[in-house]
Amino acid sequence: MSEATDTPVQKFEYKAEMKQLLHLIIHSLYTNPEVFMRELISNASDALNKVRFMQVRNQTVLHPEAELRIGIEIDEKNHTLVIEDSGIGMTRADLIERIGTVASSGTLEFLNRTEDASEKLDGGELIGKFGVGFYSVFMVTDEVTIETRSAIGEEKGWRWKSRGEGTFTIEEIDKAERGTRIYFTLKDEVKDLANEYRIKELIKKYSNFVDFPIYIGKEKVNSISALWQRKKEDMNKEELDEFYKFIAGDFRPPMDSLSLHIEGRVNFKALIFIPSEPPYGYFDPREEKSLHLYVNRVFIQDDCRELVPEHLRFLRGVVDTEDLPLNVSREVTQSSPVTAKIREIVTNRVLGMFEDWATSDAGKYETFFRHFGNHLKLGLTSDFANKDRLVELMRFETSKTEAGTFTSLQDYVSAMPEEQKEIYYITAESRAVAEKHPSLEYFRKNGIEVLFLTGPVDMFTFTTLQDYKGKNIVSVEKADIAIGETVDDERESLKGREAKDILARCKEVLGDRVEDVIESRRLVDSVATLVVGESGMDAQMERMMKMMDSNFAAGKKILEINLRHPLVRNLAHINSEDHESPVLREAIEQMYEGALLVEDNLSDPVDFVRRSMDFMEKATRG
Ligand code: ADP
Repeated sequence: MSEATDTPVQKFEYKAEMKQLLHLIIHSLYTNPEVFMRELISNASDALNKVRFMQVRNQTVLHPEAELRIGIEIDEKNHTLVIEDSGIGMTRADLIERIGTVASSGTLEFLNRTEDASEKLDGGELIGKFGVGFYSVFMVTDEVTIETRSAIGEEKGWRWKSRGEGTFTIEEIDKAERGTRIYFTLKDEVKDLANEYRIKELIKKYSNFVDFPIYIGKEKVNSISALWQRKKEDMNKEELDEFYKFIAGDFRPPMDSLSLHIEGRVNFKALIFIPSEPPYGYFDPREEKSLHLYVNRVFIQDDCRELVPEHLRFLRGVVDTEDLPLNVSREVTQSSPVTAKIREIVTNRVLGMFEDWATSDAGKYETFFRHFGNHLKLGLTSDFANKDRLVELMRFETSKTEAGTFTSLQDYVSAMPEEQKEIYYITAESRAVAEKHPSLEYFRKNGIEVLFLTGPVDMFTFTTLQDYKGKNIVSVEKADIAIGETVDDERESLKGREAKDILARCKEVLGDRVEDVIESRRLVDSVATLVVGESGMDAQMERMMKMMDSNFAAGKKILEINLRHPLVRNLAHINSEDHESPVLREAIEQMYEGALLVEDNLSDPVDFVRRSMDFMEKATRG
């Protein structure tokens, strides 16, 4: 930021990335310029909330008696608009730091990508999400003036002016009232917006739930209704949808909502929404927020993390209680038994709603689970009080479901044949990888259903469950699965001395690299696979540990050999003729590294490929 010399009007230059952002906003990003109104009103409302918040805590603000309001003036003849609030205002430093920078570093990158895809964003829906709200005003005007006076600073007032072309100016002014006044002349293409009827329509559409009166001249034009104070039967879907969009900053309607009016040991009203999809990108800071906390209809916090447990933080909405003091501090909301009780009731009712969906509308529940299942799973390791309910709410793809469709543990268990005593799962990066894994061959051949755990969240949450309804939950990779029956296979297995000798030879060749070499009862088509002992981690889990900790030392594996496989029979034969055969040694190395490769754990493929070439060369020799 370059600052000119000591003149009354100082000139500043935007940072390079800000210029880029402005260019994008004005020229390519948004198809719907009217959203500027929502952005400016929402900023005004935030500024008013800050004053109200300070006042309920008896903190000193300038002009404490001033009404908390938003005023709009329209000059239809000259096409000018004024939006004014009696909120917190801005100091000179605020103007430079907050109005001249991009809030999140992910913003520009995201917007650039969007532009590359030449995808216009309808309704400017993303504008507010990324903290570029104020700049949307440059869609409708060439020059903006802000006059502002902070409610907390000693300063008198400042005028900020910019044509959005890379520079802005700041000068000191005398401003009598605290708060912010923003004015500008509309561009020709949008000059029709300077019309009382149009502006009223925009306010109805975008800002009807703003919690402060909005005046056009002397007339109050919004309804300031605290929707959550009403009974569910007194709200219609349209109102609920609009309120959700307003409070969640989402442009899609919610999936569903839950209205709670609780009286008893704790008293509160809540209006809770389940979004239809998770918010945009993972860098979206809104992901961190959840329910808004109100005390006696006064807004207190929009990031009160204590109102819901972590795994339900995707919920949006409002909790309004009489049981906390108005000047409640963050420390109090964190430790108060009132918040804990609210969280308990909210969690209970929300899980109840999911359970209802799961029984009465499985399709709806599965859609929900597809979007928020990973959130819910986090509860398995943290919400012990509700663990049993959460387990029932889990859904899985399995070796018997079609891709993209689910089963529950309850369904899995009811479909188990009587001989099957355990619940099996396989961990893999994806369904496709799981389906091809050698460890699955036995189960497939014998029609035993296996749960597919295909995400990092599954790995760290579900695998902590030991059992379900008295049945152990076991990885198919664990070595000592008591499978019972052997595979129905006409190929005869190597037996006796020959079998013992070839297993022993493999162990000799591989030495310390494996814990043991044993006969496999799970392989059908593959020659060999690596498995872990009862207490070890399976391959996928191990890979994740390595990703998080480069010093992580993987445990030794057991190599299982398929004694029905013709290759093994051939090798056993060579072994009985020539124990030291170089071909035998190479083949054993190749089997071992092949098994490593399948589980994506072969760190150096050079020898593996060289051996393949040697074998191919021998096989093709004329
Ligand atoms: P966002 O509102 O998402 O933070 P904006 O670009 O709309 O992004 O605003 C940037 C910042 O400028 C706000 O966070 C706030 O600090 C300040 N600001 C904007 N409008 C006002 C206003 N009317 N009163 C006080 N501060 C404001």
